Amino acid sequence: MAEATAPPTEPLSPPHLSAKVFQELEIVKDPANLFHQTIEQVLIAAQVVGLRHHQQIILAQPHNEIMVHFPVLMDDGHHNLFKGYRVQHNNALGPYKGGLRYHPDVHLDDIKALAVLMTMKCSLVRIPYGGSKGGVKCNPRELSRNELMRITRRFCSAISNQIGPEYDIPAPDVGTNAQIMAWFADTYAQMMPEHERHDTLRIVTGKPVEMGGSLGREMATGQGFVNVLKEMLPELGIDLSDMTFSLIGFGNVGGWTARLLDACGASLVAVLDHTGAIHNDGGIDTQALSQFVTRTGGVGAFPEAESIGIEEFYSRPVDVFIPAALEQMITSQNAAMIEARVVAEAANAPTTPEGDLVLQQRGIEILPAILCNAGGVTVSYFEWVQNKSSVYWTAEEVDKRLNTHMVLAARRVKLARVKYECDTRTASYCAALEQIGKVYDLRGVFP
Ligand code: NAD
Repeated sequence: MAEATAPPTEPLSPPHLSAKVFQELEIVKDPANLFHQTIEQVLIAAQVVGLRHHQQIILAQPHNEIMVHFPVLMDDGHHNLFKGYRVQHNNALGPYKGGLRYHPDVHLDDIKALAVLMTMKCSLVRIPYGGSKGGVKCNPRELSRNELMRITRRFCSAISNQIGPEYDIPAPDVGTNAQIMAWFADTYAQMMPEHERHDTLRIVTGKPVEMGGSLGREMATGQGFVNVLKEMLPELGIDLSDMTFSLIGFGNVGGWTARLLDACGASLVAVLDHTGAIHNDGGIDTQALSQFVTRTGGVGAFPEAESIGIEEFYSRPVDVFIPAALEQMITSQNAAMIEARVVAEAANAPTTPEGDLVLQQRGIEILPAILCNAGGVTVSYFEWVQNKSSVYWTAEEVDKRLNTHMVLAARRVKLARVKYECDTRTASYCAALEQIGKVYDLRGVFP
């Protein structure tokens, strides 16, 4: 059979050249910058797998960085100007895909980092998507429902020319949910000719089920996380059915993770969120806590547990410590306090490089985010496929397919760990980069 492409001629990159890539792209490295930290980790793995130099350069910067400003009418009658972002990192494997975040600390470089992680995650679980991320700098906790709706509609209209159901597909992330996706999809549809509107539902995933959402999407990140733990914990001598765990964050990801682990027999002993930290060594009732958080907005005042300080939270002994809130929360100081055998990252980029080093030095195994939280985007992909075909799957079918993707991704990481003799985080990036590298080798670079 004839070769599909000419063999690549560029030599493989020699090791330890991430500094050279930074220099070549004129990036002045700031150790505290999340984007720089993320690119550094990717480049280290790129050198381990021998990714070609030009591919490293491509992956070290997003394709597109979109920043918009838009006015919104507030309930009190005045107008506020909001800042929104959409960063499209890479689409070698398929349309750009990534969440929308509403948070007061949304910054361009953080969004860039999260877009890189989406590229890596989609590749690792072998779904045909690239990576993107977006967000609006705002505090959803201080906004009324109508203000949130108007912000969402104006943001959608501001970026509508740069996204599309076959081009860039947003989804929920921190501070956004299925209702926000519904407003987003409706706004996008209104901008299309009427006879094309029904086909634009795929512009976002994570929609309410009644509006084309997939069964199982809301719990998908938590479910995928549990599937990964089932595959990874036995080799570490931890039995999911009687392990203890603590959790940072009790939102979509943390809340579902807690309930699903609880259902497997695991025991939640401590939780920290933006309202405070609580513990109960006898095990926290995750269903009751979930109802409490829905009612009050946080875990802080939960009556069936004892309130504790942040240091006490971190130093509580558990089998598995699960960050499921924001980035860069596990610093070297916090890492020194953690008394766990495993840190399993449900949040994106929750561990700083310094924190990572301390955990490694203390012999604590780290299961990285691009593996652990890829269940959300996997079921988002299922939603998109169902919208495309207008054939809808049962919850059991979604669950089975999700499990297959997550288990295969976990096994891919284990294989990469042996093949490249590296830690689990590097191995996850290696398994993702192998796929992207192969596709770039096949496609070549136009012209
Ligand atoms: P969410 O908005 O539903 O919940 C965020 C949680 O973080 C809340 O419990 C909040 O109290 C907590 N939090 C905020 N600031 C905090 C602080 N300073 N200290 C402690 N806790 C704090 O968000 P989510 O969707 O659950 O996302 C959580 C993480 O998971 C993020 O990193 C997100 O990018 C990642 N993620 C989400 C999905 C998804 O499907 N939603 C998928 C993959 C990854």
